[in-house]
Amino acid sequence: MSQVREPAAPSPGLRPPAVPAALSHKDLRGDDFWRQLPAYRGLSAQEFHDHRFQSRNCVTSVAKLQEVLGDLVPASFYQDVGQGVLRSTMSLRISPYILSLIDWSHPVEDPLRIQFLPLASRWVPDHPELALDSLHEQEHSPVPGLTHRYADRALFLALDTCPVYCRFCTRSYAVGLDTPKVEKVHFGASTERWDQAFAYIASRPELEDIVVSGGDVYNLRPEHLEHIGRTLLEMDNIRRLRFATKGPAVMPQKLVGDEAWVGALLRVVERSRQLHKSVALHTHFNHPREITAITRTGLDRLAAQGIVVRNQCVLQRGVNDEPATMQLLVKRLGHVNVQPYYVFVHDMVKGVEELRTTLQQAMDLEKQVRGTTAGFNVPAFVLDTMGGGGKRDVHSYEHYDREHGIAVFTSPTVRPGAYFYYFDPVHTLAPQIQERWQDGAERAAMMRAALDEAVSRPRR
Ligand SMILES: *Cc1c(COP(=O)(O)O)cnc(C)c1O
Ligand code: SF4
Repeated sequence: MSQVREPAAPSPGLRPPAVPAALSHKDLRGDDFWRQLPAYRGLSAQEFHDHRFQSRNCVTSVAKLQEVLGDLVPASFYQDVGQGVLRSTMSLRISPYILSLIDWSHPVEDPLRIQFLPLASRWVPDHPELALDSLHEQEHSPVPGLTHRYADRALFLALDTCPVYCRFCTRSYAVGLDTPKVEKVHFGASTERWDQAFAYIASRPELEDIVVSGGDVYNLRPEHLEHIGRTLLEMDNIRRLRFATKGPAVMPQKLVGDEAWVGALLRVVERSRQLHKSVALHTHFNHPREITAITRTGLDRLAAQGIVVRNQCVLQRGVNDEPATMQLLVKRLGHVNVQPYYVFVHDMVKGVEELRTTLQQAMDLEKQVRGTTAGFNVPAFVLDTMGGGGKRDVHSYEHYDREHGIAVFTSPTVRPGAYFYYFDPVHTLAPQIQERWQDGAERAAMMRAALDEAVSRPRR
């Protein structure tokens, strides 16, 4: 007789009261944390939290970094950053706010340092299949700076500058200043270029939803933000707008003090209400430490006006790949009324191979995060397929060869019949497999084998 197996765990009984550490998402830093930096030691909260001070004093060179930090770090650290910058696809730009939140007693491991300051000593060679515009955004562009990949929504790159520059930016082909490594395609804030984009959007009735991004809308002049918002909202076909900005994560002071910019945003939101349409702000927090008391003050202002804010996070090794960190980020975002929307598996981007995780790590992390809080505040873990297949749920691969680090996805709604690869970082694979990746013929054979498996997989 076969026996029915009982679930192993005994009944857990009633939940015990939470330990204080379980509530740490509510503990937002409100001290004078900037005073740890020699250059900011004498600044009052009013001076430091002035948004003009923040944007004027962004650190854009190693010399400036040295002026601000002085002897907090050894000379070897500055050399390491200097050499890192030479290799980087992004120019250096970091706000005083973020700089002050870095733990300068452990800068190498610090999750905020990792995102903004490259260190040559941590460099890992790029994956051999990697490209600068890995998502092929430029191939899906009917007019410069507009990507129409999904049927009902489009990505509108309104400008090509940001309040800070992230090392890992997917749009390093366009965003920021040219670097020794990359001469970029520039999409400046230009009303003529915008008019072309508007004409295209108005001509396509299937487009209902526009992501206004860049670059970063924090850097749009208020009248431009309002012009773009109003023009799009007045189109009959457009139902939803999203403004994408990293600003709240790196310079929350602007939400508190830049009356002209916030006012323009509020007027666009107000107009959307009159038209029964929706406008949301999409932002980009990657680590719980980026959220402080001043962040809450800024976001409370948006919450008071009923503005929906969602977060798109990039999964990075050493930044947010530990379950406890991602759980805390998700809970803290919810606490400040930001809805965690996506966690992106790191795109295949040049010069930041050390930051990528495997697909398996992303799936493991998802398992640890789901259930932490309300389902509507649990982010979807997605991967933007190389070659323009669009975003896919990390679990939805057709085939995943963990040994060789190759995943194959399909994308029925974007490119029916096509297959798309994603590759785990080579340095995470066994030594003999790493060697095979260095050989062109071996590489082609491994990729072919994974593709054959995906294609032959039975379909329902
Ligand atoms: C991400 C993205 C969008 C928006 O997709 P959602 O899944 O709705 O957030 C639109 N266009 C492009 C090209 C994108 O990459
Ligand atoms: S803010 Fe966004 S667009 Fe700008 S560099 Fe960072 S990731 Fe790229």
